[in-house]
Amino acid sequence: MDLGTLPEDLKPLVKFHGHLCPGLLIGYRAAKAAADSLGLGPAEDEELVAVAENNSCSVDAFQQMLSTTFGKGNLIWRDYGKQAFTVIDRDKGKAVRVRFIGDGLKQKRPDGSVDREAFVQDLINRPQDEVVSVEEVAVEPPSEAVIEQSIACARCGEPTQSSRTVELAGQVYCRPCAAEVGQ
Ligand SMILES: [Zn+2]
Ligand SMILES: [Zn+2]
Repeated sequence: MDLGTLPEDLKPLVKFHGHLCPGLLIGYRAAKAAADSLGLGPAEDEELVAVAENNSCSVDAFQQMLSTTFGKGNLIWRDYGKQAFTVIDRDKGKAVRVRFIGDGLKQKRPDGSVDREAFVQDLINRPQDEVVSVEEVAVEPPSEAVIEQSIACARCGEPTQSSRTVELAGQVYCRPCAAEVGQ
């Protein structure tokens, strides 16, 4: 596919992610739908929180387009295995859950395989309501950001966030060391 023909706001996303794939496009459409529904302007730097219900390619769209990132802590991963995302705008007191509903867009080739190229085109070009559903949901109360103490692991000595340590026979270990010691 000629990347030059892509929508302008998709080009930096493809660069960020490293390739163009159906998963990324699901995230692209979902992030755009969430931004539209929340009334976010393109240049606004809002304090958003995104909750991703999967950890696949689609999540990168939220990191690049909405600046909800794993590193900043405003991207939360729930391991549900669903192409669904909740975006919370605390300033507006509004949240939307966007879910991918476009599996029916997959066209089969005569040999039964999915026509990936056609699927990619449909994910880019189909109207929003054929690709994602958008539902307003209640804003969850913010979880307290806890500054945790670090504890030096008894085996490797590396400072480790205390809630991620494991106690074995009176010694405190990081997770990988606990796995080694516990054997
Ligand atoms: Zn991908
Ligand atoms: Zn260790």
